[in-house]
Amino acid sequence: MAGLDADIKKLYGVGAARAAAYARLGIAIVGDLLSHYPRGYENRGDVRLLTQTAVGEKASVVLTVATEPRSVRIKGRMSLLKFKAYDESGSCEITYFNQEYLKSVFPIGSEFRFYGKVNEAPNGYSMTSPAYEPIGAETELTPLIPVYPLTEGLSQKQIAKDIRSAQAIAAATEADEDMLPEDMRTRYGLCLHSYAIRQIHAPDSFSALARAKKRLIFEELLIFALGLSIADGKCAERGTAPICADTDISALEEKLPYSLTRAQQRAIADIKKDMASGYAMNRMIIGDVGCGKTVCAAAAVYIAVKNGRQAAVMTPTEILATQHFGELSELLGSLGVRCELLVGSMSTAQKKRVREAVSSGEADVLIGTQALISDGVAFARSGIVIADEQHRFGVGQRAMLAEKNSMSHMLVMSATPIPRTLALAMYGRLDVSRIDELPPGRQRVDTFAVDESYRPRLNAFIAKQIELGGQVYIVCPAVEEAEDGEADFLMSDIDGEGQVKSPPPLKSAVGYSEELKKIFPQYRIEFLHGKMKGSEKDSVMKRFSSGEVDILVSTTVIEVGVNVPDACLMIVENAERFGLSQLHQLRGRVGRGTRKSYCILVSDAVSRDSKAKERLMTMKNCYDGFEIAERDLKLRGPGDFLRNASDDTVRQSGGVRFKLAELCDDAELLTSAFDEAKNLLAASPDLSLYPSLAQELSKMFTPEQGTVN
Ligand code: ADP
Ligand code: MG
Repeated sequence: MAGLDADIKKLYGVGAARAAAYARLGIAIVGDLLSHYPRGYENRGDVRLLTQTAVGEKASVVLTVATEPRSVRIKGRMSLLKFKAYDESGSCEITYFNQEYLKSVFPIGSEFRFYGKVNEAPNGYSMTSPAYEPIGAETELTPLIPVYPLTEGLSQKQIAKDIRSAQAIAAATEADEDMLPEDMRTRYGLCLHSYAIRQIHAPDSFSALARAKKRLIFEELLIFALGLSIADGKCAERGTAPICADTDISALEEKLPYSLTRAQQRAIADIKKDMASGYAMNRMIIGDVGCGKTVCAAAAVYIAVKNGRQAAVMTPTEILATQHFGELSELLGSLGVRCELLVGSMSTAQKKRVREAVSSGEADVLIGTQALISDGVAFARSGIVIADEQHRFGVGQRAMLAEKNSMSHMLVMSATPIPRTLALAMYGRLDVSRIDELPPGRQRVDTFAVDESYRPRLNAFIAKQIELGGQVYIVCPAVEEAEDGEADFLMSDIDGEGQVKSPPPLKSAVGYSEELKKIFPQYRIEFLHGKMKGSEKDSVMKRFSSGEVDILVSTTVIEVGVNVPDACLMIVENAERFGLSQLHQLRGRVGRGTRKSYCILVSDAVSRDSKAKERLMTMKNCYDGFEIAERDLKLRGPGDFLRNASDDTVRQSGGVRFKLAELCDDAELLTSAFDEAKNLLAASPDLSLYPSLAQELSKMFTPEQGTVN
């Protein structure tokens, strides 16, 4: 019999085509299917009488077939199958299209649970193409039906069936031991892995689902924590690096048209101390967008060059690299520092010239995309590697950078303030400098929270800003309308007690940009989302930053670091869906020039959800990224911080891919996971005592994400 590590094609009914579809979802073996968790669920357990249903809304009804299904041929090849069914409150006409074979499925007198939209009809009710499940003596119908993320070539039914086969294999080959030690499970009230996997795919109840979710989240957090702790251990095996004894940067400071803030001075003092120490600097600078991290990086570069070393400045995107190149060469060029740029759009000959200038030692500083620099540039006198706009936890990167540049100093810059407690847990032995102060005279981005009723005024406001020469960002939470079946609630909507929060419908970037084009035919509107190719994204972003696009509709992929001085209006749709820190980051993308700037948070949830309201009010009243991060952690838990760690931009550049952990709303669970990871590693540094955890670890941190083991 096939095991969980068997190829997915070993499952009955899975051929090459379906396997290819699964591959697109990252599913290759039977075991992968089991961790393809539902996106949400249909709540079919809430069975109503026909008279209790709301017109036009989905409901579950149990009906007895009253008349023999009749098929009616309508134009051409179309056929309808119709029959009547009833419950104690009334009768309902049921219709299916082109499914004549169903005739034999519905004999008179048989009972079914139907699920779908119920409408009113002349003599009672009607349902069209409802889902149906026979009520039999043997099997009890499950109340919650999973709705899976799909891809072309796969249906819900197929996935559900294949997952059932995989479950059967899992049951037959179940390991005797859970991957989490028993005492740990008891400490946190965690159910068994096997139970959790069964329940997540076919929950017996809401509370069983909540238990399953908690267990699987903890497991994922623990593995994440293990990976980070191991990577941090590596980083902390501090190698030696060139001693940069001359840390006098007064010449650089004189060039600046401003004086450094105290926070910048502190960060630079940290850098000086590290670089002069003889040990490799391993530092992260965290500070809000616009707090002036670049000049700190420039100081580090300058110190390296003054001491006869070269510097590499790596960015996730070409556009950021180009911006940095402009700034750094202007600032450092006049101090005799030679900067070079290396990006994908350069010709082969240009790239060759730059690589040679670096390897011969003529060039002092190389600025470019991470991909290009880490892919085969030989430095003659490497001294420091600086990575800008790292996402928060960049674990893979940190380990990779540390390994590749073991003889260099390393400085990572992040625009995401993270709560102190999380930073302690997650960064471990990485040194952190916090820049918690903005340069003086920064304009404040006025922030408003509005609901749908404000829409006409909002549109007028958009038009006004564009007429004044400004540009507009509109951020939506979803990419495209969910095609893969509507769930009644999403996995993220179920809380720890098994209660369901009901969210308003989501605006999608693609759909909404089409809508806007109709409203504003005179403006140039483009969209941007994570599923686009890197080069496409870059080109849209470039056009926006050069002013060729008026409105950019996008998911959260817009780069944090990119400076678009004319962008003066940030609109966030379904703002209740975003973490506060994320909203704060989005807000930081406007107000970077001289224009008066605004951030408008659109949400219909505030009237129903007091927590959502409190969060959006926080945004209105608070402008300090670190404070916002702390409040975010209290109000929503660490999930949002983790979610960004698995953003698609980040994924490409070596992030971690979470399945459920980003739904974690319990801050303590994360800290516990880190504590437990430390204990496990203390007991078994190579995890040989915990082989199944080691195996899961290797899955989460794949080699291309930077090896951590
Ligand atoms: P970020 O931290 O987001 O990378 P930047 O380094 O791009 O921020 O700085 C944002 C802007 O603030 C730049 O135009 C920079 O010249 C300016 N700036 C940086 N430090 C100061 C300062 N101490 N006083 C005034 N302006 C500053
Ligand atoms: Mg920056």
